[in-house]
Amino acid sequence: MGFFKDFLSQKVPRSGKEIPAYYRRALSVSDGMLIVYFVLSFFLFPIINQHWEWVPAVMAAGTAGGLWMVRKHGARLNLVVYSILCLVWVGWSVYTFGWGGGTQHFLTLILVLVFFNVYEKPLYKVIWFLALLGIRVLLFSLSRNQWNPAVYSEMGETASTIYQTTNTVFFFLLLATLCVIFSTSVQDTERQLRLRNQTLYKEAGTDPLTGLPNRRAMIETIEKYQKSEPESTFCVAIADIDFFKKVNDTYGHNCGDYTLVKLTELFAEHAGGKYSVCRWGGEEFCFFMPGMNLDEAKIAMNDLCFAVERMKLSFEENDFSITITIGVEENDYSSPLEDLLAGADEKLYMGKEQGRNRVVV
Ligand code: GH3
Ligand code: MG
Ligand code: MG
Repeated sequence: MGFFKDFLSQKVPRSGKEIPAYYRRALSVSDGMLIVYFVLSFFLFPIINQHWEWVPAVMAAGTAGGLWMVRKHGARLNLVVYSILCLVWVGWSVYTFGWGGGTQHFLTLILVLVFFNVYEKPLYKVIWFLALLGIRVLLFSLSRNQWNPAVYSEMGETASTIYQTTNTVFFFLLLATLCVIFSTSVQDTERQLRLRNQTLYKEAGTDPLTGLPNRRAMIETIEKYQKSEPESTFCVAIADIDFFKKVNDTYGHNCGDYTLVKLTELFAEHAGGKYSVCRWGGEEFCFFMPGMNLDEAKIAMNDLCFAVERMKLSFEENDFSITITIGVEENDYSSPLEDLLAGADEKLYMGKEQGRNRVVV
């Protein structure tokens, strides 16, 4: 019983099953429009020479109650009330005026609202679809064979036109409103997800300490370049800070971080759009020099090496400097990127063995 009550009212939404705000909005707006429709019908009925104004009046009151329920008891109970009211209205209208009135279209509204409220249960949707289809077919058959009301045909052309036009216009207005609310919500969610994905993708390719691209992002950049300009020359280089462990051990890990950030700033200053740099890992950096041959890359990396040597670092009143060793490899148009990077790494270690603070090409 408790489960049933919870299911109907959704007073305590279970995780992942909350009624979304756009759905509540769709129901509320739909209720509001139905009230206008019933009130209008209440005033139209005497004009079209009928004497059942109390029916739309009761429907308007019922729908107003349903609207109040959205706030008080949640959207799910309101949907039940909404569906019952629509069914009663359609049933009564077809019974009274026959098929020509056009109120049977209102069954479609129930279908739309139910479909947007059922998650992960396709069988429910099939059942609802078959039930509504069954009701529609049954009403059609009854209106033809059993009830056979003469009212609609006796109403006169003007009255029946007013009646059918009102029903058709309101049905389309309601359907269009529901579609606008649902499609806007879906498109908005989609846009937000796309933007979030872009941000996450960017974050996943960025080193948080230095703000440089990381290894994955750099490999992607080089591979993209290789694909778009397979004939172009380029160089890759890997740089490693000399005796960086000593910086950490002597001045502390924060000073090591400060050094990495300062070095990044210097790299950015010197790159000037000619090449790009990434944090390859730890205290290693990778350079990608598109359009540069080995000689040009050697000049650029030597400049950088000197600049690092000259850079004055100061952290918590400790003045110090660092040097870096760089290995450079040129694209030979046949080796895969992995081999080029491994070649640059090998040259880096040759540079370390030769005494550090140098560029090996
Ligand atoms: P070598 O000249 O042979 O490269 O000597 P090294 O001391 O630089 O080499 P080693 O690989 O022994 O030390 C690298 C050090 O870099 C060890 C590690 O603690 C430090 N390191 C790596 N990443 C970071 C970081 O993000 N912040 C700080 N502060 N230190 C880091
Ligand atoms: Mg290292
Ligand atoms: Mg090192």
